Amino acid sequence: MDNRPFDLLLTGGIVVTGAGMRRADVGVHGETIAAVEADLPRQNAQDVIDVTGKYVFPGIIDVHVHPVYLDSVQDCARVAAYGGTTTLLYYAYARTGDNLVQKVEEMLEDGLANGLLDFGLHAGMFEAPRQLEDIPQVFEMGIRTFKFFMPYIKQGWTTDDYHLIKAMDMLADLGGMAMVHAENGGAIDYMEDKYLTGPDAADKKHPLAKYFNASRPAAMEEEAIFRAIRMAEVMDCPLYIPHNTTRRAIRHIREAQAAGMPVYAETCPQYLTLTQDVIEERGALAKIGPPIRTAEDREGLWDALAEGVIQVVATDHAPKDKDVDGDFIEQPFGSPQIETLLPLVYDGGVNTGKISTVRLVQVLCENPARIFGLYPQKGTIAVGSDADLVVFDPNRTFTITDENQHSNAGYSLYDGRTVLGWPEMTFQRGHRVLWQGEIVAQPGGVQFLPTLRAKGIRG
Ligand SMILES: [Zn+2]
Repeated sequence: MDNRPFDLLLTGGIVVTGAGMRRADVGVHGETIAAVEADLPRQNAQDVIDVTGKYVFPGIIDVHVHPVYLDSVQDCARVAAYGGTTTLLYYAYARTGDNLVQKVEEMLEDGLANGLLDFGLHAGMFEAPRQLEDIPQVFEMGIRTFKFFMPYIKQGWTTDDYHLIKAMDMLADLGGMAMVHAENGGAIDYMEDKYLTGPDAADKKHPLAKYFNASRPAAMEEEAIFRAIRMAEVMDCPLYIPHNTTRRAIRHIREAQAAGMPVYAETCPQYLTLTQDVIEERGALAKIGPPIRTAEDREGLWDALAEGVIQVVATDHAPKDKDVDGDFIEQPFGSPQIETLLPLVYDGGVNTGKISTVRLVQVLCENPARIFGLYPQKGTIAVGSDADLVVFDPNRTFTITDENQHSNAGYSLYDGRTVLGWPEMTFQRGHRVLWQGEIVAQPGGVQFLPTLRAKGIRG
């Protein structure tokens, strides 16, 4: 340890990493963690903050963010920061007719100019037959994860099996990773059409609020996950499955991981803390793809998270303008989630004993950093790592309401829910971000984080 006085010193907290927890002070020089030990010297330290009774977590990393709807890149970063998040991975989507390289360049520039948080990018494509050829060039720009839709045939967003396995073939050669929205598109489209032309179709407000989940059954998510795993197996391509919703698909992921395949699974707070009842209660505001499912699925996801089959929780933040009184089927998919990630997973998982505090840090910090190649710069509290830190008060209660959330969505699916545990302050590379309930960081001065090959994931 060098003997310069610390620029920032957090004293008396419980430091939690993916490896364990202990009482220790955290000393920072510039933008980097310089010491993690009990009773560090306070002499001449510039900024000493007593965090006795609080947890000190690594900065939360949300790897599933869509900054192209009601919340811009700047909004997403600001709203995420209120919830204790310090690093974001945005999806740069190329829609039909778009140029993938150009879309990635635009989001990269937007993130650097307007974001408040360090970030990386995933690329995603709606027109794979034409856009696949851009993968090598995008790869050179520091993006190695590419997302494909197996459903949404009617909307024209789907990647068929021919082009999905071709993408996996290319990505395996490059050292990249495929990401799939896994639902069986043809089957879902048929069932949706059947309900829409059936006897209940006259009820334009609720036809799919009632039949939404029935037309997108867990079996069709399971089938697509199984199919994607088998294609990845043939091409020897790493596979990341975002937004898992269902207990019954877990067995295939577990089996692939046990066979040594690089298959990674994510779930989201909405699937861990809500059930499909919320669709009856809030209508299209809770229309999300894949759908929020049963209490049994929810428990299955917690079990998989504790067991290690699911390694990441991220938000799929996609706030959109919805008309709750309009035709359900015309309303877009998605909901605001980015602000409540840490408090919901802490309250729903740690306070109930479903996961440990250390597991919380693994699934929100360490594993996202490892899977996307950001570790140990991000995802841990260790000498030499970026000083991205969250001071979390486990004794503060907070009631989430539609009004006190910062997304432009104007609502939260957790309206009225009281959670125990709330982030009190955050630092990114030693600079204050969340401070006394407000965001004090300014846009710019952030780093783009190229993603690299995964290493050393904690199951
Ligand atoms: Zn998404």
